[in-house]
Amino acid sequence: MYDYNVPLTIEEVTVRPPADNQVVVRIAATGICHTDVSVLRAALPYPPPVVIGHEGAGVVEEVGRNVKHLRPGDHVVLSSIATCGHCLYCRSGHLHLCESGIQTALAGEQIAFEKNGSPIAHFCGLGTFTTRTLVDASQAISIAKDIPLDRACLIACSVITGVGAVINTARVCPGETVAVFGCGGIGLNVIQGAALCGAARIIAVDVVAKKLEAAKIFGATDTLNVAGISESSDEVRALTSGIGVDYAFEAIGSPEVIRQAFLSVRRGGKAVVVGVAGFGVDVALPACLLSLEERSLVGSLYGSANMARDVPRLLALYQQGRLKLDELITERLTLDQINVGFESMEKGRTLRSVIVLD
Ligand SMILES: [Zn+2]
Ligand SMILES: [Zn+2]
Repeated sequence: MYDYNVPLTIEEVTVRPPADNQVVVRIAATGICHTDVSVLRAALPYPPPVVIGHEGAGVVEEVGRNVKHLRPGDHVVLSSIATCGHCLYCRSGHLHLCESGIQTALAGEQIAFEKNGSPIAHFCGLGTFTTRTLVDASQAISIAKDIPLDRACLIACSVITGVGAVINTARVCPGETVAVFGCGGIGLNVIQGAALCGAARIIAVDVVAKKLEAAKIFGATDTLNVAGISESSDEVRALTSGIGVDYAFEAIGSPEVIRQAFLSVRRGGKAVVVGVAGFGVDVALPACLLSLEERSLVGSLYGSANMARDVPRLLALYQQGRLKLDELITERLTLDQINVGFESMEKGRTLRSVIVLD
């Protein structure tokens, strides 16, 4: 990506040799995530030139001198967040909040490639829209070799972000009620996370009929098409005898939808924001409900994931047929079709487009 709002180009670049704590990964498959579109559209500014893409899986080709837990040939799912292992957050078990993690990943200071001597960054410290890339060893999570990499790659962002928000951030219990606002790649994974947790009601909310059909496949018990309806929270409350849901998940990143999610929870209920709003965007809420009804509004970053723990767990569920990955993939593309994949994502035509390189 050489500039915002300009189609991506495919060209030869040089991968830098790995530092002591880095590994070179041959990318086998990578999903196109809405966050990549946000970078291209400057909604989430990341200074070009940069290789974007962050939902990847592949095979380790080379490891730095200090890397002990990986060796060439290992299959890996790539984590969008590096962990240092010794900051306040890593020490307290909140690995996804690591100081060297997402903030650094979005700062545009990590260089993996060169072209004609000029440095090229890699988004999230990954840059998966490439055949080979360089990542911090903490971002490469090894997996069993019998798991197809074109499905495993989805764990790296949409699945962990959605399922993790339910299991790790909210900790939904069996029998509870859940509403999910936005049924794209993340929202569908929130829905299947709620189903895995045994939620009794899972209310899917969207304005696109096709996405609501998909929501049913992933475990939604009710669907609400709120096209043309401004107070979607009223519809959710009506489905729960006027009480509201235990948890509402917002999977879009829109201030108005965050407000509707908050308005749809019961007394003591929790609205969980998973979608990433544009920088500088504020949200308005009836503040009295925070104390008078003890409602809360919380955020969830990357499914509050501990990737070394969560990736094997999720893949075990996939192998048992209890976590849906195949159903997330609408189309498989080659790398040179990447701009087609971006267009599909922006027009809402796909659940997930996966670029297959191997
Ligand atoms: Zn993503
Ligand atoms: Zn750390």
